[in-house]
Amino acid sequence: MPLKKKIKIKEARLGSRLLGEAIKDGDRYTIRINARHSSEKSRLNTVVHEALHVGDFDLTEAHVRKLTSVVTEVLWREGYRRNIK
Ligand SMILES: [Zn+2]
Repeated sequence: MPLKKKIKIKEARLGSRLLGEAIKDGDRYTIRINARHSSEKSRLNTVVHEALHVGDFDLTEAHVRKLTSVVTEVLWREGYRRNIK
């Protein structure tokens, strides 16, 4: 299924408490990921979390968190990591 949403993903300085955020502007979305995470798995968790918000902006925070924990764990166990050059 082709993706019709336009999504920008940026690394940002978000302060120490906010790990990420998803911003909706019409059919355009921006995901901002805090440049400082305690681990790669924590960062993956944030990326998945914000992506799920973009996938359905109406999902509750609790629902997003529940889905995030499963998707993050499965991707992590399958060996998905960033390829940083
Ligand atoms: Zn959230």
